[in-house]
Amino acid sequence: MQKLLIKNIGALVQARPKSSKWIAGKEMATVPIIQDAWLAIENGIIADYGTMEEWTGISDWTGLEVIDANEGFVFPAWCDSHTHLVYATSREGEFVDRIKGLSYEEIAARGGGILNSSQKLRLATEDELYESACKRLDEVISLGTGAIEIKTGYGLDMESELKMLRVIRRLKERGPIRIKATFLGAHAVPVEFKNDKEGYIRLLIEEMMPAIAAEKLADYCDVFCERNYFTEEESICILEAGKKHGMIPKVHANQLSCSGGVQAGVKTGAISVDHLEYVGEAEIAALKNSDTMPTLLPGAAYFLGLPWPPARQLIDAGLPVAVASDMNPGSCPSGNMVQMMSLLCVTHKMTPEEAINAGTINSAYAMGLQETHGSITPGYVANLVITKPMPSLAYLMYAFGSNLIESVIVNGKKV
Ligand SMILES: [Zn+2]
Repeated sequence: MQKLLIKNIGALVQARPKSSKWIAGKEMATVPIIQDAWLAIENGIIADYGTMEEWTGISDWTGLEVIDANEGFVFPAWCDSHTHLVYATSREGEFVDRIKGLSYEEIAARGGGILNSSQKLRLATEDELYESACKRLDEVISLGTGAIEIKTGYGLDMESELKMLRVIRRLKERGPIRIKATFLGAHAVPVEFKNDKEGYIRLLIEEMMPAIAAEKLADYCDVFCERNYFTEEESICILEAGKKHGMIPKVHANQLSCSGGVQAGVKTGAISVDHLEYVGEAEIAALKNSDTMPTLLPGAAYFLGLPWPPARQLIDAGLPVAVASDMNPGSCPSGNMVQMMSLLCVTHKMTPEEAINAGTINSAYAMGLQETHGSITPGYVANLVITKPMPSLAYLMYAFGSNLIESVIVNGKKV
């Protein structure tokens, strides 16, 4: 049996004896913390924890590895429930175009944006995509990400979407963290269907989905519900078809306009609706009494200079809020979850505690992992972040330029 003990933990954060569905509304303002703690791990699973003061000692030291946290904080590893980690090339040219005044939509209209990534992805081999994705995955793991969702959506034809899904399957097999795969064929309408969106939707539903289901390649089905992309009705039709093939809905919703994306998500029972820059009373009302997690992607809003989503209104309405990176080459080339949580505090006026709940328990829910990830709970996967000593929890988000991560533990092992 592999046994690991972490001692002298300055603060053990998000320690909860039992699993929680999610943390919503006012409860988001609190994160349980045990000062001066220890944590025991067995075979990669959290076994027990407590305070150093009540430390009863260990009867059997055989094979026990001990890590001294030196008063650093221990967090559950972050869950990143929305990424586009598999892609062919970076897009810093468009970044410069935006600096010079073009909007994201203008760049897309000129053949940039998603269609640019699509063109490059179609030319890349599965091995090339796998190799570059491994590097990105290793980078985000070193930044504390302990579970990640990865989308397709740069293939936009049968062969290339399947190629992306097979890359994600290889990443799942490689590990070491849990990965969820999302089919996002409805990310954009490809050039060859420019004047035949209906034809492309038929291709998604009648040909791509059965092929994906036959190989069980996707956990979720996602749609970019947005003007010039897919309408609310089209999104519902695609998501319902995905459900018939065993894929749970997710939505890129209300990023550039009041697109009906939130409503499409709630109506189809989506596990999450993501972005939410353009959300008002109607969307908030729709989200109440649903099982859909509102998920904020502050990196993309920051990088594109979009308005901030009304995070406070969502929380004040009693809703839960999750955060993810949206890591992708066009609108957020960062998968750094600490940076995302810091942005929630600075720009969305969420407190550090709310940000931590958003990036752990709530983002675990948004990828269906709330029974195993997102909190320090006995029986959960031992994916942890150990920080350097810090004066408080808020310091992690306050010192936004410092790398405060001392080490990352995945499945009970230091990576
Ligand atoms: Zn996205």
